Amino acid sequence: MSTDVETSLRGPKAYDLARKALQAMEANQVWPTALNFELWVHYVAAQDTPLAAEINALIEKREPFTEALGEQLAAQFLPKAKLNGEILEAGQTLSKELDSVSRAIESARESSEAYGQQLANASESLDGEDAQAIKSMVESLTVATRKVREENHALESQLHDTTAELGRLREHLEQVRRDAMTDALSGLANRKAFDEALDRACANASGEPMTLAVIDIDHFKTFNDTWGHQTGDQVIRYVASVIDRNSPSPRVSARYGGEEFAIIFPGESARNALAVLEAVREEVSSRILKRRSTNEDLGAITISAGIAERRDNEGPASLIERADGALYASKRGGRNRTSCADPVAAAA
Ligand code: C2E
Repeated sequence: MSTDVETSLRGPKAYDLARKALQAMEANQVWPTALNFELWVHYVAAQDTPLAAEINALIEKREPFTEALGEQLAAQFLPKAKLNGEILEAGQTLSKELDSVSRAIESARESSEAYGQQLANASESLDGEDAQAIKSMVESLTVATRKVREENHALESQLHDTTAELGRLREHLEQVRRDAMTDALSGLANRKAFDEALDRACANASGEPMTLAVIDIDHFKTFNDTWGHQTGDQVIRYVASVIDRNSPSPRVSARYGGEEFAIIFPGESARNALAVLEAVREEVSSRILKRRSTNEDLGAITISAGIAERRDNEGPASLIERADGALYASKRGGRNRTSCADPVAAAA
């Protein structure tokens, strides 16, 4: 959350703000998920923000607040601040750790220097001294040695703590990075992760086949209007789960847009991809989903897909365009089917 809202949620008006957010969510039929709560707390906290303007416009248009829309708003208005906050916090912890390590190293260095000086003084004053003087010198050297040993021990334990803290920090940042690349509703890679994976796959594909498939849920809007957006969200999760099961690594499956998905097939031809897409399509339509609130049958869900195998030196934009073209051919051909941008390649 932004710092202002964070502060308000710990101040005297905290519960008032939280209550207002929940009331606004209920009035607009928004599920009280953590993400939605964050959005709506920002919304009620300040009306002169781009987020508030956007939400007000959506309320006016009577646009349903689907989970997909919530994510879109959050991606547009929230995560930068959140991510920046996380990174800033991690950076501050890191610099604190580094400060304390450098202080410990400095103190160990000073002790060693003092110890060296003491040894030098001792060896100078040894000349011509009697047994008593040597004894007291040895004693003072023993004290100095103990001090250095203690300093080294403290330094070791400091380094141990710092290493553990850096490990925790690395794990936390890895989790933040994973969250930033994952679509919260479907659990698949999000659009940003997809764009990066497709760039990488195209760059690494020299000489190897590589294929892209795009998938769209048929009549999704009508489905949403008939059964409500919460059920629509469940359908997105269902289709995503079938796609995910059929796309083990190195394939990359992503939610590409609202009800659109994509699969990248590194090292695979259009023919392989076609077999996978046909399996996904059949599995999706084979199950009769139930509306959870009423147990009514929702009817069969079908999907349409388009496939394009990368041509020599072809870039991501052109590949997406050709796969999209094939998807529209599937839609035009009556839906619930898969088309290839280059049918000869798929048949080969
Ligand atoms: P979810 O509700 O979180 O369920 C996750 C997984 O738990 C399901 O993966 C399935 O393996 C198991 N599961 C959940 N409920 C049941 C159940 O009543 N019976 C059985 N045998 N297994 C169950 P799956 O099947 O891949 O579904 C993924 C997601 O797709 C579900 O997430 C849900 O959001 C949606 N979904 C699947 N089937 C239905 C359905 O009939 N109605 C609705 N509304 N959503 C469904």
